[in-house]
Amino acid sequence: MDQAEKVRTPASWVVVGLDNGGTCNNATVLDATGRFLVDHLVENPSLVTEGPQAAVEALAEAFDNILTLTRTPLTLVRAVGLDTPGPASATGVISSKGSTNFSQAAWHGFDIRGALERRIGLPVLYQNDANAAALYAHHRHFGDAAMSTSSISAIVGTGMGGGVVVTGKVVSGAAGMAGELGHVQIPLHDVLEPDQPLPMCNCGFGGDVESVASLTGIKNNLLPYWLKRFPDHPLAAEPIGRAAKLLRGYGEQKDPLALAVFEQQAKAIGKLFTIAANFTDPEAYFLGGGVVEAQPTFRQWFLNTVKENTGLRREQREVATFAVVADLDMAGARGAAVAALEEIQDR
Ligand SMILES: [Zn+2]
Repeated sequence: MDQAEKVRTPASWVVVGLDNGGTCNNATVLDATGRFLVDHLVENPSLVTEGPQAAVEALAEAFDNILTLTRTPLTLVRAVGLDTPGPASATGVISSKGSTNFSQAAWHGFDIRGALERRIGLPVLYQNDANAAALYAHHRHFGDAAMSTSSISAIVGTGMGGGVVVTGKVVSGAAGMAGELGHVQIPLHDVLEPDQPLPMCNCGFGGDVESVASLTGIKNNLLPYWLKRFPDHPLAAEPIGRAAKLLRGYGEQKDPLALAVFEQQAKAIGKLFTIAANFTDPEAYFLGGGVVEAQPTFRQWFLNTVKENTGLRREQREVATFAVVADLDMAGARGAAVAALEEIQDR
């Protein structure tokens, strides 16, 4: 940083956050004082199914669009924070085995971060989407206290993602695989029924958090079991994938089968948070995803069930907060921007 830059007011430079998803990119701008210049979703098609070249071009377009929209001159941008779904390395190289979002062979082992950096000519800093969301949840909740506090976020979707934040920074790990909370194995003795088979995860583990607390877990493990206990349930007539998606609506109506499934999910997340309590002892436990976007009474019941099943010591209970992740649709872009800002400030 040269002398002229040092005397500028902090707000005179910005970072851009770009969240790359299966169908859309979402973009935001964060100034150096920590203020977002965009208060709503700004999306463009991500074109990931058209391969890396089209997708990198679409990200560059999202970048240009957001600068135009916020009337931010390119010269004020110090860096770009990029997040994508995983699995990818800590530096944004998509897994050599590909992934759900990046299934074409051209994506396998593709360095999306490096490609975007070359395309736009600015430093690009990478996060996986769940870590970015966790970081945003943390900063939004703690504000000025963000850099002196810790949290854990569990985000329930098709899989189960999340992130671990310690003193304001997301823990990424040696290989970029820290915070893969869905694949943490948990004790299941008071989660499963005595005759319930061990739930299996796509990663190969039996009895990890995602095998229970995800849409995939509902479809592959929980619903097939519970439909045997409720053979006359209307969902028994639906294809299993559709039945899994319809289940939340039944939960909101207090349907006993649906509540049994969601109770098992909440207990599984409580077991995960118990592990977190003994690892990093965070100030806050955040929950995000479909289940918390549900109707408020159901959401509160779910959050309470998670809390009741998190084994905290008295001293921890007195200081811990349980909350839902707000603005989840913007959390990826915003978290990626926060990570970029932190990185730049540290340099
Ligand atoms: Zn797993």
